[in-house]
Amino acid sequence: MRKVALVLVVAVFVPSLALAWLAIRSLQDQQFLLERQQVLLYQHVTDTLAKAVADRLAQEQQEFSAATESLVGTNDASVAAAQFDRQLPARWPLADLGFGVTLAGNITCPLPSAGLAAQRFLLDNSGFLGNRETCEVYWNASNSKTVTATPLNILLANQAQSPLLKTAANGGTVTDNAAAPNYLPTKVQIRTVTPQGGNYGGIGGVGQSAPPPENNLSKIVPAEAEFRQLIGDETDGMLARFLQNKLRLLFWHRLNQQPDLIFGAELNLARVVDSMRDLVQADPALHGDICLALLDDHAKPVLLSRPGFSGAWKTPFAATEIGEALPHWEAAAYLVDPAQLTRTACTVEATLGVLIAVLVLAIGMGSLLIVRSLRAELTLARQKTDFVSNVSHELKTPLTSIRMFSEMLAEGRVRDADKQRSYLNIITAEAARLTRLINNVLDFSRMESGEKQYHFQPCDLTGVVRTTAQSFRPHLEANGFTFTCDLPDLAITVRGDADALAQVLVNLLSNAEKYSGGRKEITLEMARRGSPLPMVEVRVLDRGSGVPPGSEEKIFEKFYRAHDSLSSGIPGSGLGLTLARQIARAHGGEVTCEARPGGGSAFILRLPLPPATATTA
Ligand code: ADP
Repeated sequence: MRKVALVLVVAVFVPSLALAWLAIRSLQDQQFLLERQQVLLYQHVTDTLAKAVADRLAQEQQEFSAATESLVGTNDASVAAAQFDRQLPARWPLADLGFGVTLAGNITCPLPSAGLAAQRFLLDNSGFLGNRETCEVYWNASNSKTVTATPLNILLANQAQSPLLKTAANGGTVTDNAAAPNYLPTKVQIRTVTPQGGNYGGIGGVGQSAPPPENNLSKIVPAEAEFRQLIGDETDGMLARFLQNKLRLLFWHRLNQQPDLIFGAELNLARVVDSMRDLVQADPALHGDICLALLDDHAKPVLLSRPGFSGAWKTPFAATEIGEALPHWEAAAYLVDPAQLTRTACTVEATLGVLIAVLVLAIGMGSLLIVRSLRAELTLARQKTDFVSNVSHELKTPLTSIRMFSEMLAEGRVRDADKQRSYLNIITAEAARLTRLINNVLDFSRMESGEKQYHFQPCDLTGVVRTTAQSFRPHLEANGFTFTCDLPDLAITVRGDADALAQVLVNLLSNAEKYSGGRKEITLEMARRGSPLPMVEVRVLDRGSGVPPGSEEKIFEKFYRAHDSLSSGIPGSGLGLTLARQIARAHGGEVTCEARPGGGSAFILRLPLPPATATTA
């Protein structure tokens, strides 16, 4: 049995656990891949949006250049230059104000007399446009051709070898053109947002750590430059400046015919943003999952793909910087339901846990059932073998006696009449024992195959018990037993099969005789009981060794013998009590066993009585 259990553990349990472990690993890998794909997908979405915004600005700039050429390029430039600040906003609605400046730094328009807006513009920009002071401008370090490492490296490289990096403000492309003006990056800046992609948890432990630090560094590097340095030989450009912590966006264009004249515009940022509304739209397939946003340099959303959406603006799922045209502005994607990722991961984890627990439990239970049923089968097989040898023994013993005594009588070797009678009694008793055994075996096989039939009819149980006791008395007394009967005088009628009920009594009395040991006292009692239901009780009491503790119920199982034939020397088939109980139950009653105070056991047959049972004298 231990071997079977060992084989089960090795062949079923261990491989199942290994399989379960593999399943968990593969699911974790799947989850990891899914999360990575999601991060990449949303990163691609924000990259595309950032590029679309930058492209739209470049397109706007071309439109501005065309508008400028049409306003001042065809007429007398110096005359047109004086009115450019007022004419431009009418021609090109994104402009708040137009300006004109010569390469030498003379501002042709606007004049301070043009109004408050012109005065504010001149205050902010005249020093810078007049080449008298530098201003902080922005360039995209990731576009650098000279150094492609992190912005920090670029900064260090430039500090060591300055002036090295050169920019053309149109698109901020850094070139190594010797004619281009040089300027110095000032510092590395931290991004306004921290993308969380892959940090939303998950069973794969994807990105459980903080995002890598270089992710938080802005690719848009500020640098100090003069206006003349900035424009170099280029014809168009855009320039972003932060004044009083507010972003100002300037476009400029050099006239084709008069390259020393430069016209520009300060853009109305609100209108620029508004013109990009159509760009900030999530793909319909992703609309339910993410909200796209255009964030300004304070990480405040200026455009949203889902109006009314609110999220942790500084920690989007994915984000991309727009570029040097809108420094520190970001195209960002937010998960509409950030908890969904964690929830999905938890659900997968919980489902797996439950499945594995169920699997292990099922395997455990299955193994237990197999072992138990194997053990039961083995026990039954052993009991059947014992049964065959017990029955053979039981058949042989009476047959030997019968043969021996009948031969002696037949050969006339016994002349004494008393002895003859005694021998005849032995032959009768042994024949009765044989009959009992054969009856039990036959009845058992009939019951097992469901062929046993009872003839139920009203019968006097007192009469059945008395007759059985009388037939048993001579045998018992001949063997030295004190047999006491305490039976009622009145007949107690039950509905039953008289022969079957007599067989129950015979089996109980026969057991009392077999297991009585040294104290040969047997008592047979019968009485009516009124509660809980009207019933009649027949008790067979002995003073033997009693039923071993723990076997009180098992002795009613087929083939079970608490007193083994070999060790106890008491012959038996293990069927007597099985039959007794089955017959009692077929009558709606029961046979039970109790230990008797003072030693011995009491076997009790209880049968139900119909409510109005007639008791007659
Ligand atoms: P058997 O042919 O072995 O007697 P039974 O079904 O009649 O088969 O009894 C089953 C077992 O119950 C017996 O082997 C014996 O161990 C126990 N038993 C039955 N009657 C008594 C009794 N009066 N006293 C003690 N043990 C008993």
